[in-house]
Amino acid sequence: LAEISTWQAQYQGDSIAFVFEEQSLTFREFDQRANQVAAGLLAVGIEPGARVAILSKDSINSYEVLFGCAKARAVLIGINWRLTPQEIHYILQHGNAEILFISRELLERIGAVKSELPSLRKIIVLDGEFEGYSGFQNWRDQFSPNGVGLTYSPDEVVVQMYTSGTTGHPKGVQLPNYSFFRLMQGMREQGDHWMNLNPDDKLLISLPQFHMGGIWWAIQGFIAGAQGFIIDTFIAWKVLELIERHRISKVPMVPAMIQTTLAEPSCETTDLSSVRGFLYGGSPIAPALLQKAMQRFNCGFFQIYGMTETGNMAVCLRPEDHSPAHPKRQESAGRPLPGVEIRVSDISGNALPANAVGEISIKSPANMIGYWNNDEATRECLSEGGWIRTGDAGYVDEEGYLYICDRIKDMIIYGGENIYPAEIEAALCEHEAVAEAAVIGIPDERWGEVVKAFVVLRPGQAIKARELINFTRNRIADFKAPKSIDFLEKLPRNPSGKILKRELRMPYWAGQV
Ligand code: AMP
Ligand code: MG
Repeated sequence: LAEISTWQAQYQGDSIAFVFEEQSLTFREFDQRANQVAAGLLAVGIEPGARVAILSKDSINSYEVLFGCAKARAVLIGINWRLTPQEIHYILQHGNAEILFISRELLERIGAVKSELPSLRKIIVLDGEFEGYSGFQNWRDQFSPNGVGLTYSPDEVVVQMYTSGTTGHPKGVQLPNYSFFRLMQGMREQGDHWMNLNPDDKLLISLPQFHMGGIWWAIQGFIAGAQGFIIDTFIAWKVLELIERHRISKVPMVPAMIQTTLAEPSCETTDLSSVRGFLYGGSPIAPALLQKAMQRFNCGFFQIYGMTETGNMAVCLRPEDHSPAHPKRQESAGRPLPGVEIRVSDISGNALPANAVGEISIKSPANMIGYWNNDEATRECLSEGGWIRTGDAGYVDEEGYLYICDRIKDMIIYGGENIYPAEIEAALCEHEAVAEAAVIGIPDERWGEVVKAFVVLRPGQAIKARELINFTRNRIADFKAPKSIDFLEKLPRNPSGKILKRELRMPYWAGQV
């Protein structure tokens, strides 16, 4: 990443790299700022492999920090700003973060925990000086824009993305530089130009940097020399206005964003004729929603399937596969990209034939190198041969198209956010009235899935659902709180005592999985 920034500054220094609100930077200006950030990190004593964290909504600064870290050979940890102080604390501590870049509005989230973070050397406020902390701009501008003169390796870890874990603790996915370019480079060498990202493109960077989908897409655009339009929150009418005003050419959205965009009244009258490529994925999409999006955007549609651990995209459903000539294919996630292998296997790990449902594993040149400081989780997910177990169930048809059926793991995807039931169940059980709890995702038009809890109360106890929901809100991030709670006499269990979530899910998912 470090070298790509220098290269873009040399070869198309005067083109615009990033736009955010009324600000824009050329590739040359951007590279100089990334150099300054790198020099600043080195001045603080950051060594190769040190972790640097960022907790902020996106802006151009977020990307200066990313490329500054790459140039200083530091590893960037992007933290979801919706997390609670406890969750943020866990990531900062587990990641051993030495520097934290933070926006002013989020400072209160770390106020109570920062004294318990001995490895944290410096906090830099992205949007101005504040209460004795350095302000980003003044700090950055003390340093030379001329490059720090380090050498880089494609194998070195450049970002560590935290994803929620089944035990409730998030895991740090270590992605080396090559995760962001090796797959694409291999494809281009074979004449496969995929979405044809190029310097004339204007990309909407609709997902946040702390999500694999956001950082990956922004980097792909940067490598192609395209203009990246950064937004700090996805507000449908603003996004539509931005597309029309700047004549955005390539747009990525998760299904929940598609839903809110199409429901926005101004969508009808917005000029979307500049959009030539539409990327979607991250969670299952309802066929009717896909049809509506294809009608309205009327351009090439690309679905991608993958996970943070596979360096994002591994499987793609291309525009020609969206044609009405192949109606079934629109329910598929597509075929593996050149260089990617997929395997479907039974519970003992034996490979299954075409059309048989099993667990999907992926071997991609973009796969992570492992989870940070978590050998057990790494062994469970990543095999010696380089295969990543996705935890998704699916099958591959005779023509090589992958169909995702269900998730083996119980993860709930709420508008693109991964939620693990175990964490919410634990929060519910902290209430004295609760004997036991089970959490599932139920289908929702807008969010894809929403959280629903089933609770068994202790004898003689009574509590309103609303009150219990509010109780969980003090323990876990708002977006993870159950949207509804049903009270049951007992939970359905198998003979060995394991809760039968399938039975809880059945009434809601019938006919859909
Ligand atoms: P994450 O690591 O947060 O990106 O989440 C990865 C998970 O999202 C996968 O294991 C799938 O369960 C789900 N997912 C990603 N892309 C798709 C897709 N195109 N269709 C259905 N589910 C998807
Ligand atoms: Mg996700």
